[in-house]
Amino acid sequence: MHIALIAHDRKKDDMVRLAGEFREQLAACTLLATGTTGGRLRKEVGLEVECLLSGPLGGDLQIGARLSVGEVGAVIFLRDPMTPQPHEPDINALVRACDVHDVPCATNLSSARLLLRALASRA
Ligand code: PGA
Repeated sequence: MHIALIAHDRKKDDMVRLAGEFREQLAACTLLATGTTGGRLRKEVGLEVECLLSGPLGGDLQIGARLSVGEVGAVIFLRDPMTPQPHEPDINALVRACDVHDVPCATNLSSARLLLRALASRA
């Protein structure tokens, strides 16, 4: 299973905590992430993560492209709903790509936990 992980700046601590909770499960997956999120997951959780470009520099689009050709099975995208993002069009494009290709996409902590539990029970 390939899982993409993305967190906006104010959600990065939550992502690190979440990844710590599900560390064992995530370590058994192939992980890709936007640059800064992936760097923190490597350093602070010790996960092996393929780091793409930072989100504002095109990382969301890279994940969307990979997902569109079947290379991503689930997305955890902890979005910050309270802060305007310079790359809002890229964010929308990624969420749209998930809908187009019917790839599960969790955009908050509770849905991320549910998604990871569901994936674990399927394995
Ligand atoms: P980042 O990108 O992990 O490089 O910060 C995420 C984002 O802000 O979209």
